[in-house]
Amino acid sequence: MPAQIMDGTAVAESLLDATAAGALDFEARAGRSPRLATVLVGDDPASHTYVRMKRTRCARVGIESRSIELPAHTTTAELVAEINVLSDDPTVDGILLQHPVPAHVDERAAFEAISPAKDVDGVTMHSFAAMSFAERGFHSCTPGGILRLLDAYEVDLAGAHAVVVGRSPILGKPVGMLLLGRDATLTYCHSRTTDLAGQVRQADIVIAAVGKPELIRGDWIKPGAVVIDAGYNPGNVGDVDHTGASERARLITPVPGGVGPMTIAVLLEQTLQAAEASHHPA
Ligand code: NAP
Repeated sequence: MPAQIMDGTAVAESLLDATAAGALDFEARAGRSPRLATVLVGDDPASHTYVRMKRTRCARVGIESRSIELPAHTTTAELVAEINVLSDDPTVDGILLQHPVPAHVDERAAFEAISPAKDVDGVTMHSFAAMSFAERGFHSCTPGGILRLLDAYEVDLAGAHAVVVGRSPILGKPVGMLLLGRDATLTYCHSRTTDLAGQVRQADIVIAAVGKPELIRGDWIKPGAVVIDAGYNPGNVGDVDHTGASERARLITPVPGGVGPMTIAVLLEQTLQAAEASHHPA
């Protein structure tokens, strides 16, 4: 029997609806909408598209967005100064610095300038530590979205063997930490892993987070496994051979319409949470 498709668009819509209701309620109490500042450096067309999509979704749920666009020659010091201003601005609830920044900029320094209370994209070391220690805090949005999708389809994580392929700071590493926090048994794979096929074959849950079209072959998938394909490659192709994997998996995400919509939905949910926390500090 072919795998059931995990409909990220539908799950994200219900999350967006809940955020829209929460934003309306916040506005009634606070006298203003929650506000997200988006920071974009340079003129990478894909990054412009991503930021535009996020701003459109903000409008859809009643979150105000403030767009800061900086030229490609912006220095690390200039970017850090800009983010410091936003971190100190009481009218800004969340800050999103679009990744990647131009190569000459120290991205980590720029991320760390984001106040932890406004790190709604979950990119700071503070947020990573919170995810690793299973403490309260903001999730990296794609990992957070993946967990929400697994929960929406009632995937039992405790004791499941999860194999995460990829270990980037915004995706692979944090999704592994979140799964570990939910009692999955975890294996990380990366570019130096030997016998990737053998590792994936043991997985009850596969998280593909590489950025290489169809690297993960259908016949590597254990029958009945859950396959989350976070990869997004040119031509709407994921990191998993979707057709082959669908013949063996129990549940699988489509590309597009799986992980992508969940990422933005979590970003906006966390922006609302940041606004609530600043209005009623704990
Ligand atoms: P990244 O920073 O380039 O990291 C890629 C990871 O894959 C690295 O850890 C790398 O290992 C590993 N890798 C590379 N080649 C490999 C191989 N042959 N075998 C096993 N592992 C290999 O990428 P990223 O930012 O995490 O993004 C990964 C993918 O997710 C991309 O397609 C991106 O577009 C997509 N993405 C989607 C969303 C969304 O919202 N849907 C959000 C973010 C990213 P090393 O560490 O050893 O180099």
